[in-house]
Amino acid sequence: MQMDQLVALCKRRGFLFQSSEIYGGLQGFWDYGPLGVELKRNVREAWWRDMVTSQDELEVPPGAPSTYEMTGLDCTIIMHPQVWKCSGHYDLFHDYMVDCRESKRRYRYDQIQGRWAESDGKRVFVATNVSGDEGLEETQRKALKFFNLRAKNADRLQWGGPLVCLTTVENLAEVLGPDAKEPGTLTEPREFNLMFKTIVGALGGEEDTAFLRPETAQGIFVNFKNVLDSTRVRVPFGIAQIGKSFRNEITPRNFTFRSREFEQMEIEFFCRPETSPDWYKYWRDRRFQWYIDLGLAGDRLRLRDHDPDELSHYSCGTADIEYAFPFLADGEFGELEGVAHRGDFDLRSHMEGKLVRQGDQLVVEENEHGQPRHRGSGKDLSYYDDQTKERFVPHVIEPSAGADRATLAFLCEAYNEDEVPDEKGKLTKRVFMKFHPRLAPIKAAVFPLVKKDGMPEVAKEIYRTLKPHLTAFYDEKGAVGRRYRRQDEVGTPFCITVDGQTMQDGTVTIRDRDTLEQWRVSKEDCLSELQQRLKA
Ligand code: ATP
Repeated sequence: MQMDQLVALCKRRGFLFQSSEIYGGLQGFWDYGPLGVELKRNVREAWWRDMVTSQDELEVPPGAPSTYEMTGLDCTIIMHPQVWKCSGHYDLFHDYMVDCRESKRRYRYDQIQGRWAESDGKRVFVATNVSGDEGLEETQRKALKFFNLRAKNADRLQWGGPLVCLTTVENLAEVLGPDAKEPGTLTEPREFNLMFKTIVGALGGEEDTAFLRPETAQGIFVNFKNVLDSTRVRVPFGIAQIGKSFRNEITPRNFTFRSREFEQMEIEFFCRPETSPDWYKYWRDRRFQWYIDLGLAGDRLRLRDHDPDELSHYSCGTADIEYAFPFLADGEFGELEGVAHRGDFDLRSHMEGKLVRQGDQLVVEENEHGQPRHRGSGKDLSYYDDQTKERFVPHVIEPSAGADRATLAFLCEAYNEDEVPDEKGKLTKRVFMKFHPRLAPIKAAVFPLVKKDGMPEVAKEIYRTLKPHLTAFYDEKGAVGRRYRRQDEVGTPFCITVDGQTMQDGTVTIRDRDTLEQWRVSKEDCLSELQQRLKA
């Protein structure tokens, strides 16, 4: 599948629109259309149901070290600014970027690639912001143009190796920027904080600056004590939250993959320090299996353990769940979710102040006066185990997923094409979205074969019986073959058709989206038949 086919389908059928499109759009912001909103809601609901509400705290789940409880939270997007100072986001949450003085464009330093090219004794680094084969083609085109060579004289150009990252280039004066005509237009890399700033209150001085949260997790840590005090949860337990996060990404791209406003589904799981490696393994495997169960099987999905030198300073294990999105070069994967062992870093930071690593210890970072650089809340966020009579700061396992990235992966994986005979028996191309039944935006469509002979009335009656139980759609317009195709294209698993035989024996046909198999059931049994098949 080509990505532009999916993007076109998403627009045509109302899954995703560019935000503020009538004004030319806003980069990095996307709106979910009538079908997209159902799909993403189903992703969120599957996550919440599977992770939170159906968690049975009385039984040890397969692979888990013990029983555990799950509970939820819904915190605000704007929080006390000190939260971000202690969490580290204020100091550390930045990317490096370079500006182009000629094109006025801004790029993420680590996302620009290029190749050294030489002709007639002149040497430049030809940069591009696309990767893989497209990047190679782009650099070739740009180099020919720059050296004023025709394609047939391409052998007068010498390449100094494969595509490499701009970060390997020492002298930016030698770089021909991705949108520049002359070398040397890129500025030195500068730090750029990814948090969106806003002002709280009407007076609005610098001291009233607040931030839109760049992750939902911190709301959970700062409410840890509230949850303990208001419920009867005991360690080990997890707190889940779904909500919007905001990052002022320098180069939003690849459809919704890298957006500036997006939704996260995060769990902070609190456990005893000595059991944390086992819980880390449990959550890593459990979260990987979740995507498989919802249809992301095969080579396109993988679980990748970070190398020790890739780990954050507080982590003793992190794994990414990744998907080979079609917009990436062959062999490249994009992150869907990170599962991290975070130790006691977050709770301690919010108690004591921002922490830094010193040897193998985490200590409060100090300013030049020997005081904490960012003061913590001073509140006790430890846990008292009344059975063992011990007090400790729990360790945390954090499975942090993106609802939009998961939705995009499910969209990519669902896209299928085959050939089926039309009404006249001629083979024609069919596009069908093979969503898992739990995720499909519409579960069943009901059609009268023709708009007469009492068929619409019976079809509407069936539609009304289904509607309170599942998302159903009624359609009587146009040829029935066309109606089937429209439902295939939005991934509706089952279509029910009322035909001449229904009027005689009360049976209807049910058609399966994937196999195209059709069978008859009595119209009274439609709901139970669908419910059973949707569960499978
Ligand atoms: P990346 O390296 O791709 O920027 P990250 O490692 O910074 O991602 P985390 O901070 O671990 O991401 O965030 C957890 C999850 O939130 C990611 O796995 C992803 O699904 C989602 N996410 C993060 N940034 C974005 C974004 N800009 N747009 C959409 N989803 C995002």
